[in-house]
Amino acid sequence: MAKYDNSFTDELRQRLSLVDVISRRIQLTKKGQNYWGCCPFHNEKTPSFSVNEEKGFYHCFGCGEHGDIISFTMKSENIDFKEAIKELADMAGIKMPEYKVKSKAQIEAEENYFQITEKATQIYQDLLYQDIGKHALEYIKNRGFSDDMIKKYRIGYAPKNNIISARFNNIKIDKLTATGLVRIGDYGPYDFFRDKLMFPIFNAHGQIVAFSGRSLDGSEPKYINTTDTELFHKRQTIFGFNFARDAIHKNNRSIIVEGQIDAIQMQMHGFPETVAPLGTALTEDHIAILCKSNRNIVFCFDGDNAGQKAAIRACTLVLPFLRENSEVKFAFVTGGKDPDEILKNQGESAMRKIIDNATPLIDFLWESVNKNYLVNTPGGRTSAEKYLKDCISKIQDKIFQNEINEEYNSRKFNQWHKWKKQEYKPDVKLPDIDVMTINLIKSIVQTYPEITEKYIDFLTSLNISFDDNVQKTSLDLENAEKFIVSFKLQRYTQKLESEKQQLLKNALNGEKYDSELLEDLNKKIEESNRKLEMLLDMNNK
Ligand SMILES: [Zn+2]
Repeated sequence: MAKYDNSFTDELRQRLSLVDVISRRIQLTKKGQNYWGCCPFHNEKTPSFSVNEEKGFYHCFGCGEHGDIISFTMKSENIDFKEAIKELADMAGIKMPEYKVKSKAQIEAEENYFQITEKATQIYQDLLYQDIGKHALEYIKNRGFSDDMIKKYRIGYAPKNNIISARFNNIKIDKLTATGLVRIGDYGPYDFFRDKLMFPIFNAHGQIVAFSGRSLDGSEPKYINTTDTELFHKRQTIFGFNFARDAIHKNNRSIIVEGQIDAIQMQMHGFPETVAPLGTALTEDHIAILCKSNRNIVFCFDGDNAGQKAAIRACTLVLPFLRENSEVKFAFVTGGKDPDEILKNQGESAMRKIIDNATPLIDFLWESVNKNYLVNTPGGRTSAEKYLKDCISKIQDKIFQNEINEEYNSRKFNQWHKWKKQEYKPDVKLPDIDVMTINLIKSIVQTYPEITEKYIDFLTSLNISFDDNVQKTSLDLENAEKFIVSFKLQRYTQKLESEKQQLLKNALNGEKYDSELLEDLNKKIEESNRKLEMLLDMNNK
C-alpha cells in the first residue's frame, strides 16, 4: 500500500468538511457543538452517531464506530485507504501526490528552512532598531504600532544591501533560495526583499514560513510576498491566523479584513479574531481553513468600489460552506478608508459599530443583485434570476438552500413583480393653470351660480380657492359656459395624454402594458379633441 505523507492527508482534512462528507450519506442535524444522525454502520432509528466538525472525527454511541474523514470514506464505501484518499482528493479538487514519503533529507530540508527564516527574522528585527532602519521604524510607529506590537508580530527591516546572502554565506545557496529570501541573478545571489518593512508570516505552529515586505519609498506594489516555496503556499495561508486561532474559537466567529496592518490593528484593539488574506485575493482555501473552527465570518471590506467587488467575490466563495446556522456577514468601512484608519481616528467603538451593523449574506446578495442588474426590465430580471439561481445552487446544505430559495422567491414577487398583483393605476400630474385662466374661472363662478352648480365637481377638482372677491366677468352666460366646457375638455385631454405618456414610459422600462388600454386612450383623446374643435368652431361663429 502506498504511503502518503502526512501533509497530504492533513490537507485533505483541512480542505474537506467532515460534516459535508458524511452528509452525503446520512442526514445530520446540529445539536449543541456536534452534529447528529442515524449511524450508517448499525441499524438504528434514533440518532446516536455524532460528528465533531472542529476536531474532525465521528463517534457512534450505539456501536462504538469511531474515526475521521478517511476512515469514514473507507468504511462507508468499503474501499481501501488509497481509494478513499483518491475519492476525497477528487472531492476537494486537489491532485493526488505521487507516491511520497517524507525522507530524512526532506525532514532535514524543512529544519534548515525554518532555521534560516527564524534567523533572518532576528536579523530584520535588529536592523529595525538600528540607524539603517530608522525610516522603517518611523513609518511603523506612525502607523500606530507600539514597541510591544512590533515585538509581538516580529516586525523588522530588510535593508537595501544583500544582507541575507552576505550573513548566510556559510550556508549552501540552494538552501537559501529554497526559502525565497535569496535569488540568483546574472551577478550572483541577491536578496529578494530590499528596503522593505518586514512582516513574518507564520504557519499554524508559529513557525515562520514566509515574509511580506512593505515598500517604504512609495513604490508599487505596496506589498511583496515570498513567492510560493515547498513550505509556503500563498493561497492557503492566512495572515494573523496563528494569533487569531484561539479567539476565533472563543468568540465563535472570524473577521476577515483586506490588509495585514488592518488585521494587526484589529487584533490589538478589541478584535483578536481578525485575519487577512495575503495580497488581495481571498481564496476558497482561506475560507475552508476558517470554516474548520466555525462558519461564522464577518467580511470587512473598504467602502470603495474595489471593496464592493471583493465582497461579491467573497460571497460566491463562501456559499458552498454555508450551513443553516452559519452567520456570514458583510461590513463596509465608511467614514474612513480602512479599519486601521477608523481605529486610529475614531476608536474601537466606531469599528464595533461597523462590525455590528454588517449586512447578513442573504441581504447582501439580494442588494448586490438589485444594484448590478436592471431589475426593472424583463431582460435584466432574467439575468438577475439566473445569477441568483447559480449562487443558490452553490449552497450544499439542502435545508439552507431551500430556505434561501423561498426567501428570494418572495422578495422577487414582492419587489420585482409588483405589477402582477396591482391594477394599473396611472399617477399623472396635470400642468398648472395659468393666473389669467384662474381669474376668469373665478369671475365666472362669482357671476353665474347656475354654471357653478352644474360643473361643481369639475370646478372643485381644480383646487382653486373661490373665496376671494374678483371682478364679475364680461362674458355672457352662454359664452361663460362654453369657456368652462372647453376648459374642462382641455384638462380632460391633458389627463389622457399624460396617462398615455406614462404608459409608454413604463413599456420602455419593460413593464407589462395593456395594448387595449393604449388603443382606448387614443380613441378618447381623438374624441375629446373633436369635441373641443366643435365647441371652438361654434365660438368663432
Ligand atoms: Zn453505530
